[in-house]
Amino acid sequence: MFDTITMRFKSIKAWREKSGKCPICGKRVLRKTTFECTVNPFNRNKDGFIKSETEVRRDVNIEADKWVPDFTHEKCKEKLITGKNSHGLGKNGAQINRK
Ligand SMILES: [Zn+2]
Repeated sequence: MFDTITMRFKSIKAWREKSGKCPICGKRVLRKTTFECTVNPFNRNKDGFIKSETEVRRDVNIEADKWVPDFTHEKCKEKLITGKNSHGLGKNGAQINRK
């Protein structure tokens, strides 16, 4: 049997919450996500040094800030693909092209 070595690394998290409108139905959509990164010997910066907690925190926040959620509802996407929207018009009056 192998000995199990458990290494516990400090985990750094960044939460983001963004609200927007579904481009298809026009309803308000709230998206939440969590970015997580651990301070560990494998997580190195571009100079080859192990990232410090401060560096990891900064990088996680940069990544979180870059996050652009897709506000389109899954159901709305399905409607668009399958063309189940009988009148072909979204609630906001946008014409949905069906070819
Ligand atoms: Zn929608």
